[in-house]
Amino acid sequence: MDFFFCIPIMFGCTTKIKPDGDQPARVCPRCHNASVISANSRNWFELCFVPLVPMSSKHIWMCSICQWNVPLQQGWEPPVAGFQQQGPQGVHGYQPTYLNQ
Ligand SMILES: [Zn+2]
Repeated sequence: MDFFFCIPIMFGCTTKIKPDGDQPARVCPRCHNASVISANSRNWFELCFVPLVPMSSKHIWMCSICQWNVPLQQGWEPPVAGFQQQGPQGVHGYQPTYLNQ
């Protein structure tokens, strides 16, 4: 009988999330904690649990408490913590302002 090692080659994708620098905390729409940050989420091709090849990346909003996340999109951002909404009637008029455009 031949004896041979059977080494499982594990490969797949892993996602690494790197927060973008200093930024104000945002309020999470799901758990309402001020723990939402914008981050760069990058997929890596990994072999035997070692990330080897960087693949697609995208910017996301993510909550560090409940793991809620959405892709960054123009025209919408989670409210900054401390931002006071003007009662139930004023919510529909919320318009984020972009100073750098
Ligand atoms: Zn949350």
